[in-house]
Amino acid sequence: MSEVERESLEVDVLYVGAGPGTLASALHLVRSVEAYNAQTQSRGGKALEMPSVLVIEKAAGVGDHSLSGAVINPKAIAELMPDFQEQGFPTEYVCDDASFYMFFRSFTVKSPVCPPNFQKKGYHVASLSNVTKWLAEKCEAAGIDIYPGFAGDQLLVEGGRVAGVRIGDMGVDRNGKPKSNYQPGMDIRAKVTVLGEGVRGSLSKQLIERFELQGRFPQVYETGVKEIWRVRPEKHKPGRVIHGSLFPDFLSQFNGMWLYDMKDNLVSFGYVTMLDSKNPFNDPHLEAQRFKTTPFMRNLLEGAELVRYGAKAIPVGGVYAQPKLYCDGAMLIGDAAGMCNAFKLAGIHIAMKTGMLAAETIVDAIARDDYSSVTIGGYTERYRNSWAYAEHMEARNFHGSAEVSPLFAMGLNVPLMLITKGRGLKDPLPFTAGHRHMKKLSELPASKRQKEAFEFDGKLTFTKEHLVALSGAQHEVDQPSHLVVADVDLCSDVCTKEYGNPCESFCPAAVYEMMPDPEQPGRKKLFIHHENCVHCKTCDIADPYQVITWTPPQGGEGPEYTKM
Ligand code: SF4
Repeated sequence: MSEVERESLEVDVLYVGAGPGTLASALHLVRSVEAYNAQTQSRGGKALEMPSVLVIEKAAGVGDHSLSGAVINPKAIAELMPDFQEQGFPTEYVCDDASFYMFFRSFTVKSPVCPPNFQKKGYHVASLSNVTKWLAEKCEAAGIDIYPGFAGDQLLVEGGRVAGVRIGDMGVDRNGKPKSNYQPGMDIRAKVTVLGEGVRGSLSKQLIERFELQGRFPQVYETGVKEIWRVRPEKHKPGRVIHGSLFPDFLSQFNGMWLYDMKDNLVSFGYVTMLDSKNPFNDPHLEAQRFKTTPFMRNLLEGAELVRYGAKAIPVGGVYAQPKLYCDGAMLIGDAAGMCNAFKLAGIHIAMKTGMLAAETIVDAIARDDYSSVTIGGYTERYRNSWAYAEHMEARNFHGSAEVSPLFAMGLNVPLMLITKGRGLKDPLPFTAGHRHMKKLSELPASKRQKEAFEFDGKLTFTKEHLVALSGAQHEVDQPSHLVVADVDLCSDVCTKEYGNPCESFCPAAVYEMMPDPEQPGRKKLFIHHENCVHCKTCDIADPYQVITWTPPQGGEGPEYTKM
């Protein structure tokens, strides 16, 4: 169907993904052009024409795919909009009680001192989904177009530069044939395309590979599983933000949790699981369920009602894993560029800041009418001179330390990093892609060659199948699976024996299932329940053979993350 006639739309600036980074960028761009013109005209100079700006978003509604443990450092939003509070920023509460807990199976210890990385007093607790919606309203009021339901499928590359994005086709059946409602995706051409698709964005992945933008070390990830609970009024503590880890498990795997309160007696609980485990049965959903059986969580959630569920991967490699941020005609911002401070478990403010820095660079590009690397490469310089880079530099050896061992990280190198502004014992401390750490079953002791059993009680702990219904995920069944497995025979004939099919474990939405093969008794075959997918990207990252590619389904499909 590549020969079909496609509509084409031309804009000056195209943003891919309506998230905090792209929306802050689009708004800052419009305001920066206005400021540039006011200044230039006061000197008798020529004003710039206001660029046409379009933001496309794969979700049906802006904010529907936005999920985060949103305890937001207000630095970037205050730069974008100093009166953000007066303008109705959707703050739930401002943190006035930040603490760190060490959780054990039968007791809990509150640290007498909150470590500096988790000191979040004054930060704004919010739903990222609501923040995104609020930013979109501000953008639309400033004349910026936002098209939800538009999933960017391919980069348009012409003459060695990015020329825009092709939107995915709609109305294709499971065999790739057009249905009666077939609609070819349009080509959106732009002078500059800003990719802010979030973590492991499919177009960002294409861009990084095609233009060889890879960072010094490979990006590494963890997966955060998030649940929203409505707790009893007496358990609700506005302004509280808790971070913590489960011991002694933390000494072998660098996992952790967050918890904070929102309005209407809601509590946001998240558990992050590193995707660099040796264990092929590493399961972010199961780790979160297990964590809830600690006495603290049991007590908090007694009599509570589970409201929402979701998951997303988080880039944690830091500055040494960040790619080159531009090529001719394109820029990368936010999580798509690895702009997350894993040490502080915070990225929203950095996504916004990098978006704003990209916007300032686009003003230069408009003024010079040059969208090549020569001008838009100025984005990197702006980033290197910003507080966002300084913050990343102070955390630059955090993941490298954890890769040596969590004990080395927390007992020695992280304290040293705090004293030496990020250097620690050795700089840089290298690291490898997470999936390379996974051990084959034959390399594990016999007791670890099977997944540990766990009983879900249906009150505090739930199966993936139960939870995914609370994500609002929806995909039409009769379409090609957007989870593309390059070689399904590998799953049946090799992976089963070598790794025990880790996809059944690492996916937090029960998408992958090895089922008896009706054609070959005794053999199992991969079945993909693509309709369950919550777009977390874990499979694209964690598969040991790297044969799974996450691609966008039809525009408008996926989870619906209200309150997340
Ligand atoms: Fe996440 Fe992949 Fe599962 Fe979708 S299929 S929920 S992207 S792990």
